[in-house]
Amino acid sequence: MIQQGNFLLLDINEFRTWLQKQKVTRRIKGLQVHHTGSPNYSTRKMINGIAQQDHFACLEGMRNYHINTNKWKATGQHITLFEDGKVGVSLDRDLNMTPACIYNNNAGYVGIEIIGCFDKGADTMTEVQRKATIHLYAALCERFYVPVNTDKIVYHAWFTASGTRLEDYTPGKSSKSCPGTAFFGDGNTIGTANKNFLPQVKAELNRLRNNISNATPITTKPKDDEPMTEAEKLQMSTLEKTVKQQAEWIKTEKEKANMECPTWAQEAYAYYKDYIKDAKGSYDFWRMLVIDYRKENKIKASK
Ligand SMILES: [Zn+2]
Repeated sequence: MIQQGNFLLLDINEFRTWLQKQKVTRRIKGLQVHHTGSPNYSTRKMINGIAQQDHFACLEGMRNYHINTNKWKATGQHITLFEDGKVGVSLDRDLNMTPACIYNNNAGYVGIEIIGCFDKGADTMTEVQRKATIHLYAALCERFYVPVNTDKIVYHAWFTASGTRLEDYTPGKSSKSCPGTAFFGDGNTIGTANKNFLPQVKAELNRLRNNISNATPITTKPKDDEPMTEAEKLQMSTLEKTVKQQAEWIKTEKEKANMECPTWAQEAYAYYKDYIKDAKGSYDFWRMLVIDYRKENKIKASK
């Protein structure tokens, strides 16, 4: 693990342990999937599969573009995944900050950029990067209880430029082809995600949960889509139900809200802040928010 400038560079095998140590007070509901387009394997100056450009130079270059050209306050994404499996963590966009990656669809998401241009005819993802991608998404799903499906693991291509979710990648309507029309060897559609990418993430998640080996990415491609166990299904549906109830309840309560967030509710407020428009509510609203916060985190801790 090396820290330099505005980034931390990890080996993929260090990522899961690093992630488990992070204190995340924002509620994470999903993960975004992006390719960088540029930088890509050409700008990385790949010779025989090895990039000649320094990792930090590449990361700082993106940050510079996001800040000086896009006028964002920091690097857009939280995490960048390199062609050699190294993971760049943005120190100026920690996991408690909302990413700037999909217009109007960033709240509650982790922004991940995979280095390369995976459109048809462009870069072919290295085997190391392919395995690292699967492991990275599985580790994030494990840490944040993100269900492995196309509602919660989203490709940029499934949104319009104004942030409307589409049924699928739709050339002409999608804001971008990102993560590439040949992402993971086949494409950027809902169908290819369900057939190829997500089953591999699911299998890796299963492997991590069963502690088959602590932090080594998978070495072989799984044959089948591993179904969730009954316990996992129950846990997932309980969690989703709780979150849905909370969202509805927060909405109703907000209508009779007036009290500023009291000190004892600030931790819970920080956790749900993406779902609450401003810091005002009745005494009961704040009390219940704290109860829900404790309940949800106990569910997570009891895993
Ligand atoms: Zn994108």
